[in-house]
Amino acid sequence: MIGERLQLRYMSWPDIREKIDSGFDTVIISLGAMEQHGLHLPECTDETIGIGLSCGLAERLGNALVSPTIIPGLSEHHMVLAGSLSLRPDTFKAVVEDYVQSYLRHGFKKFIFLASHGGNMDTTIKLIDDFKIIFQDSVFLNALTLDRLIAILSRIEKESSMPIGSCGGHACAFETSLMLYLAPAYVRMDKAKPGYVGPPTRELVETMFKYGVTGISEIGVLGDPTMATEELGKKFFEAAVEVMYQYILEQTKEE
Ligand SMILES: [Zn+2]
Repeated sequence: MIGERLQLRYMSWPDIREKIDSGFDTVIISLGAMEQHGLHLPECTDETIGIGLSCGLAERLGNALVSPTIIPGLSEHHMVLAGSLSLRPDTFKAVVEDYVQSYLRHGFKKFIFLASHGGNMDTTIKLIDDFKIIFQDSVFLNALTLDRLIAILSRIEKESSMPIGSCGGHACAFETSLMLYLAPAYVRMDKAKPGYVGPPTRELVETMFKYGVTGISEIGVLGDPTMATEELGKKFFEAAVEVMYQYILEQTKEE
């Protein structure tokens, strides 16, 4: 995988110490999930995508290392289907805060959160606001918001002439393509079926948070995974990394 060498979980402590001392002052923490992803993708989908995108971003930044993903996340809206785990919001916040505390003790100064699960995205904004008060000497950045993600999906959907909503955001053409690109052994394309296919608006996402995923799609899919390809996965991957990279550059220039 691109950037795998930058993952803390595969490094020894002397290697990590050397990196931090030589200027790697940033750690990317992806906030994933353990939740259902339709009939054709595994529960580790958001974890796999989070690590993949974090590694791509770290490679671009050149001064960042990648934390193990935080799983599970906030997945109450997926609990109706078997296997999903969900943390209480206070537990989730405490876990993220303890990651930050631990990394601070080793000398990291900047934290980039990358929510690879839609249900974590709004909470990530609130966590960053709180952490800026708690840890005043550190920098906190949010690589991906729901609005920024929806913009990427809509753009590529249009460029690739896919029907509107094919990339609905959950176990869809977007997530399935990324999985075909990052971890094809986990994708069962023979099981892929479209779920709800319509514009991936914020309103739709909010309806799902309120009534649960089966209120929109009984197989737990928002979008059409049958449109997914590995090539499209590469395109999504590169587009997401570029959007996040440009955003981080812009934010760090202002400081
Ligand atoms: Zn997902």
